[in-house]
Amino acid sequence: MNKYFSVYVHIPFCISKCDYCDFNSYANCDNYIEKYVNKLIKDIEVDNSFTNEYICKTIYIGGGTPSYIDSKYIIKIINAIKQKYTLSEDIEITIEQNPSSINENKLLDYKQCAINRLSIGLQSTNNNMLNLIGRKHTYEIFLEKYNLARSVGFENINVDLMIGLPSQTIQDVKNDLKNIININPEHISVYSLILQENVPMYKKIINKEYILPNEVSEREMYKCVQDTFKDNKYVQYEISNFAKENMYSRHNLMCWQQYEYIGFGAGAYSFVGNKRFSNSEGIVEYIENNQIHIQEEMSKNELMREYMVIGLRLINKIDIDRFVDKYGICMYNVFKKELEESANEGFLKYIDGKIILTEKGISLNNMLCEKFL
Ligand code: SF4
Repeated sequence: MNKYFSVYVHIPFCISKCDYCDFNSYANCDNYIEKYVNKLIKDIEVDNSFTNEYICKTIYIGGGTPSYIDSKYIIKIINAIKQKYTLSEDIEITIEQNPSSINENKLLDYKQCAINRLSIGLQSTNNNMLNLIGRKHTYEIFLEKYNLARSVGFENINVDLMIGLPSQTIQDVKNDLKNIININPEHISVYSLILQENVPMYKKIINKEYILPNEVSEREMYKCVQDTFKDNKYVQYEISNFAKENMYSRHNLMCWQQYEYIGFGAGAYSFVGNKRFSNSEGIVEYIENNQIHIQEEMSKNELMREYMVIGLRLINKIDIDRFVDKYGICMYNVFKKELEESANEGFLKYIDGKIILTEKGISLNNMLCEKFL
């Protein structure tokens, strides 16, 4: 039987650092780009994580801003992956984009190397808001680049939006949703702003320079997102993700269904066998002396619990059969008590042998997942 895995590639370069961003990304490091890509390709060439019986189903190039670097590097990376692994015939290859760094030549190069899904970081359709959170593009620039991507032939596009931004109102969110639905992307991810203490925006919140929406408003925003997409035939298949029927992110689904993956680049995580490990975070450190950090080596019991915790982010797609294939036992037997308790407390229900999250299970997902830890 074939086994499947995914590849993640981390490109940590950005034009500037957004005020809220705590990702492993860096501005003003352009002189390292070439060396970084060379090191990354070397890592791909010598990787021995997966035997020949494994087939690569998805590739995800994330960051950072992958569209910031010259597309010749992206072509080299994809070619190295193609040389190294057996790719599935229907492979999904996604690249993340920032509207300010997309151009026609890059898009044509992406097409040429079989990239078939774009993920564009928009965050808001309100220019004042974009400016406030430190984004370097306007909504108009996004629209221009989105249309360019369509004209080049991309038929699977995700747009990222954010809620819970400083001074954002429910009306702002409604405007964002209306604007996005008008342009008809296949997939939309909506993330709540979560601030780490080390980012510039955190200080501005503490100093009361910026005011965040309160918890009630944020819940209202999330509900508005869910209802609006439902009315417009987008399926909510995960806590933060909405898509047209059958246009789900296959890469993310594989992660949430606990398939193995190998990550290349600074700070990239991998999950192979029962181990999770990561590369060195800094660009120079990664290029000159990458260290593999073992994050976790998990027992079967821990792996089964993790399967539930990540799988229960999916609204109705926790894969019961896959659990049996993987662990040789039915999840109802292993987690009888936890599942019964979750159903009794209204977090989930059973329809046609499937586990389906209720509204409570979606909005209080952390509470539900804690039961399986
Ligand atoms: S573009 Fe993305 S990765 Fe880069 S700084 Fe902004 S939020 Fe972070």
